[in-house]
Amino acid sequence: MNHIKELKGQSIAKKLLTNYLASYPPALMIFHGPHGVGKWSAAEALIRQFLCTGRNGCGLCPPCRKLASNQHADYIRFPESSVPIGDPNAPEAFSIRWLQKTRISYTPFDGRIRFVLFPRGDRIQNEAETALLKIFEETPDHTRFIILTPSLSDLKPTIVSRGICVPFSLLPKESVSDITSITGARELDLLGGSMEKVLMIRSNYYKLLMTKLPEALQHPLDLMNLEKWLYRLENPETASKEIQMKQDYTQILNFFCLVLLSYSRQHKSHKEILQAVFELKEDLLEEMQGIYPYLLGRLFASLHSILFV
Ligand SMILES: [Zn+2]
Repeated sequence: MNHIKELKGQSIAKKLLTNYLASYPPALMIFHGPHGVGKWSAAEALIRQFLCTGRNGCGLCPPCRKLASNQHADYIRFPESSVPIGDPNAPEAFSIRWLQKTRISYTPFDGRIRFVLFPRGDRIQNEAETALLKIFEETPDHTRFIILTPSLSDLKPTIVSRGICVPFSLLPKESVSDITSITGARELDLLGGSMEKVLMIRSNYYKLLMTKLPEALQHPLDLMNLEKWLYRLENPETASKEIQMKQDYTQILNFFCLVLLSYSRQHKSHKEILQAVFELKEDLLEEMQGIYPYLLGRLFASLHSILFV
């Protein structure tokens, strides 16, 4: 997305941002809403338009080209990991003290405007947030901040009160289909109004899972084979061979749960299946090493007795 006008399914955000494009962006904007609904693309489109020589995100001018190769000195994008306050004397890169000492104290490279993006406002550490608040209290005109966060409650109220809040919501199915070209009813259902799981839906893992799951709900032997297959994927080497994907195993299991629930929605024992899946999901949150064989074993034992006993 090069231009805010291409933002799909977010009418309020689109309206607000279009207004700012006609003038000057506020010192702090907070984009809040679920993951995978366009907050990040919208932020970058806005930034691109402001930094672009023709203010239209042409993609061709030198600033646009620098942005595309992630080398624009006036766009500081913090990583998605947790943001620390930084050492007082020698602050590490992408800490708040680093930002203050080595960037904000200086005018932007092109003399006009600089953007700082925090993709995960919910991961800014407590002390860092307090330091950030100080910066916001005396933000120079040349620096503008955008914070992305799932929920406003992830930020200190004092930060929220300093910013303009731009709400993002789950996307209507038509928008998701429009953006991704995914048209299957089951797949759109699995996406649930967000782009977060698009890669999963397009993966070999999903394809293979959908060949195995229908049989597994019909025949005990196939159910057992599905369990074995899932268990094998814990090994990264097997996973990269079989499903051509390097993926965190917790995510593999979480996605399996989602597909299982969606697929078994019409099943007469859906309620019991739901119960068994919730037990697994609860324990997945604990992330204990070596617990997967036990969790999978328990889930599949439950499934076996729900379906076949
Ligand atoms: Zn341009």
